[in-house]
Amino acid sequence: MSNHLNTFYRDIEKAIVVGRTIPTVSSSQGAYLTIAEKKKLNFCSNNYLGFAQDKRIRHAAIRAIKRYGVGPGAVRVITGTNILHVKLEEKLATFKKAEAAIVFQGGYVANLAAIQTFLGKEDIVVSDELNHASIIDAIRLAQIKNKFVYKHCDMVDLERVLKEIATLRKTPKNNGQLPLVLIVTDGVFSMDGDCAPLPQIVKLAKRYQALTMVDDAHGEGVLGDHGRGIVDHFDLHGQIDIDVGTLSKAFGVMGGFITGRKVLIDYLRQKARQFLFSTGITIPDAAALIAAVDILEKSDSRVKTLWKNANYLKKRFTELGFDIGNSETPITPVMLGDEELAGTFSQKLLENGVFATRIVFPMVLRGKARIRVMPSAVHTKKDLDFGAKVFHRVGKQLGVVV
Ligand SMILES: *Cc1c(COP(=O)(O)O)cnc(C)c1O
Repeated sequence: MSNHLNTFYRDIEKAIVVGRTIPTVSSSQGAYLTIAEKKKLNFCSNNYLGFAQDKRIRHAAIRAIKRYGVGPGAVRVITGTNILHVKLEEKLATFKKAEAAIVFQGGYVANLAAIQTFLGKEDIVVSDELNHASIIDAIRLAQIKNKFVYKHCDMVDLERVLKEIATLRKTPKNNGQLPLVLIVTDGVFSMDGDCAPLPQIVKLAKRYQALTMVDDAHGEGVLGDHGRGIVDHFDLHGQIDIDVGTLSKAFGVMGGFITGRKVLIDYLRQKARQFLFSTGITIPDAAALIAAVDILEKSDSRVKTLWKNANYLKKRFTELGFDIGNSETPITPVMLGDEELAGTFSQKLLENGVFATRIVFPMVLRGKARIRVMPSAVHTKKDLDFGAKVFHRVGKQLGVVV
């Protein structure tokens, strides 16, 4: 059979062999989940605080559905801004100690909106080499020609780039204005768990008059007082221009958001194409997220438990002889290097009751394959011990540890 889909027939087979098959989960996301009718320890979700199946949050969503229905009905600028969207944005701004907040359909979309709205083709972006795919895609979407990459978290290299662009930034754009310079970084690097040196980035940004943007996807609900994020962790309130977060990880639901000065948030509300031309998050999403923010404002107990669990698990893995990289956060990458080894490792974990997917290219560089373990606040010590024991057994079988 020859037809116009031949390329896909050919390439999908390749993709599945070297890539991944996607497991189907037939339970909620908790400490355990169900795959192919079997209960497995959930060791790789981003549901850090257990909010994805939290009873209080579920009930908030149900109550909201009864009152307001399900869908918002239109893009937000037509009739789709529900009172819950407004409340959620107010609560997020307060939670993040920022002037204002705007909610998008995901963290990915929020990154697109931020970069595409604030920067034009002739502006300048300076980006960490390990930034998340959504930042890379955002820079492409904005068609920014002047893009510069600095070595991962390397402030000497960042300064080198900022010096290098001295002439470029004094060259007026077609409209006569000088180009903007934006330094953009992940807050927590999602595959390694290390943190961007934000205080130094802010210092350099001030010295070289650049705007700053941080993607705090893995810092929200994890870092800072009550999980307020990396800006709070470094006490840099008001000093990062564009603070992007996700509502799909620790917050346990779905969505993304940006906090910052009111003028910038208002600008997004008027100009961001992702806001103007795509419907906002659903009613149950918004209600669930309001409940999640309320819980975090009131109590930091889940955040504390998350860190306690993470520290315990990292200690266990280290004792067992695994290389867990240089994570500074609950993200616990078990470094394996070889992609095939990582695949076999993950498969054997699953056979032994532990679900932890392998992370391979293009999510990390070739030769840097790993299994990224994600402890959460809803794992018990027994769960963590079970997980570590299975890792040890498989690790020995495959000659990774002794
Ligand atoms: C997960 C992630 C995103 C995307 O967030 P979604 O809400 O899932 O769209 C963006 N940036 C980083 C660093 C992430 O880890």
